[in-house]
Amino acid sequence: MAPLLSVQSFHVHYGPVQAVRGIDFEIREGEIIALLGANGAGKSSTMNALVGLVPVASGKVVFDGRDITHNAPETLAPAGLTLSPEGRRVFGTLSVAENLMMGAYGIRDKTAIAAAWDRVYSLFPILHERRDQFAGTLSGGQQQMLAVARALMSGPRLLLLDEPSLGLAPKIVEQVFELILLLRDQGVTLAVVEQNVAMALEVADRGYLMAGGQFVVSGTTGELAHSDALHSAYLGAD
Ligand code: ATP
Repeated sequence: MAPLLSVQSFHVHYGPVQAVRGIDFEIREGEIIALLGANGAGKSSTMNALVGLVPVASGKVVFDGRDITHNAPETLAPAGLTLSPEGRRVFGTLSVAENLMMGAYGIRDKTAIAAAWDRVYSLFPILHERRDQFAGTLSGGQQQMLAVARALMSGPRLLLLDEPSLGLAPKIVEQVFELILLLRDQGVTLAVVEQNVAMALEVADRGYLMAGGQFVVSGTTGELAHSDALHSAYLGAD
């Protein structure tokens, strides 16, 4: 079966800064992929460029059989590819429900949107309870849930999560990883950037270790866990 996402010779530049320097990878339907690496390795640049938030300098991205290399972000969510970006980025002065509604932007199928509301509120009852509150009044963990819930509103087939557990209390971190497994059970394919390497290796099927904009090791999470490169990448990193 063809992979859901296929990325070839992928480069991302910011002026003279070469953040991503020629990576190749595939994600198959139903997988959970971990993207690991120290600060500045190029993980967020990869995620952001896959969904068109920063330009792809060169290379090719095929999603669900279509070349989406230079697609605008608003065309990708309706196609089934959505990013929950690093840093929560919820709109603090909009209500929880308004934030969620923004996640359904560009989705025309009213039945699909109704199903997305049901799904999101049943996954996150607290967001239903607080739907009329300003998102800025939620706790850090709840804002992270809202960021993921907003990404789910478009009904993604492939959900990219950039540092979903960053800055959260250990109990909430566990909930985030339980959610990742639950979403996979519901048929969502996931690629997760994580600084919590132990948890990422526990839930993911395969992983890629990035350094200097390239992949230095890839393999099953079992293989990665035993790789010297993984251990040295995180020495001295927080
Ligand atoms: P972190 O976990 O710190 O976000 P990362 O692995 O996600 O790290 P990126 O944020 O993708 O790494 O950064 C890769 C490189 O690109 C770094 O050298 C970073 O300084 C640089 N970079 C990232 N964003 C920009 C930008 N908007 N302008 C210029 N350089 C950038």
